[in-house]
Amino acid sequence: MTAPSPAAVDALAAALPPGSWTRDPFEIAPSLKEWRNRWTGETPLLLLPRSTEETAQMVRLCGELGVALTPQGGNTGLVGGQIPHGEVLISTRRMRAVRDVAPLDDAMVVEAGVTLLEAQQAAAGADRLFPLSLAAEGTATIGGVISTNAGGTAVLRYGMMRDLVLGLEAVLPNGEIFHGLKRLRKDNTGYDLKQLLIGAEGTLGIVTAASLKLF
Ligand SMILES: Cc1cc2nc3c(=O)[nH]c(=O)nc-3n(C[C@H](O)[C@H](O)[C@H](O)COP(=O)(O)OP(=O)(O)OC[C@H]3O[C@@H](n4cnc5c(N)ncnc54)[C@H](O)[C@@H]3O)c2cc1C
Repeated sequence: MTAPSPAAVDALAAALPPGSWTRDPFEIAPSLKEWRNRWTGETPLLLLPRSTEETAQMVRLCGELGVALTPQGGNTGLVGGQIPHGEVLISTRRMRAVRDVAPLDDAMVVEAGVTLLEAQQAAAGADRLFPLSLAAEGTATIGGVISTNAGGTAVLRYGMMRDLVLGLEAVLPNGEIFHGLKRLRKDNTGYDLKQLLIGAEGTLGIVTAASLKLF
């Protein structure tokens, strides 16, 4: 991936609210290392959006300035897709809200930076099960397990992450927000666009929230 020009990175940082990004190498360092030490990356800037709207603003500006982006959740991925090689890094770590748990619908809406464990706990708090489980669940995020289409230990009973997502909210490469947080079980309307984003490793957009199936 081509690293952005220093001028473009300066312009990006200047256009964003203070506190929504960092250039501090010590703060950035843990995000550049894959946990088994297989890949070490580099980035000129770490973006830390707090909301979907802030993510959209960042993505739109990156598009206008020709700056490539790598999304990162919990940085537990095993194939290095979350490690930037010169691109600007955008982390979902501040997007941690459980927006809604609806036991009567057997559904909940959580933001992308919620860990898998936190999502399971939110479901359990409403006497429901969110069945995806894997050893990295204390750190892996909902955005990450969606973007890698994770399977986990209960995959044969409950399916892949692809089968557990009822709806998605995402920021598309032009900065537009895809509002698709549906809860319908029987949804026969048109194309199932969310399925393109699931397993896409951030190549088609940044997942900001998901509506998940509970049992
Ligand atoms: C100990 C261990 C056990 C595991 N066991 C299993 C298992 O049993 N089954 C299984 O299927 N997998 C397993 N995995 C892999 C696991 O699925 C991934 O590590 C996890 O899904 C990545 O989540 P993350 O939040 O850490 O994402 P990251 O590692 O940060 O990112 C992973 C990819 O998703 C992209 N991405 C992250 N967040 C977003 C977002 N919000 N929007 C768009 N793109 C995004 C990144 O760019 C990258 O390409 C295991 C991993 C570990 C470390």
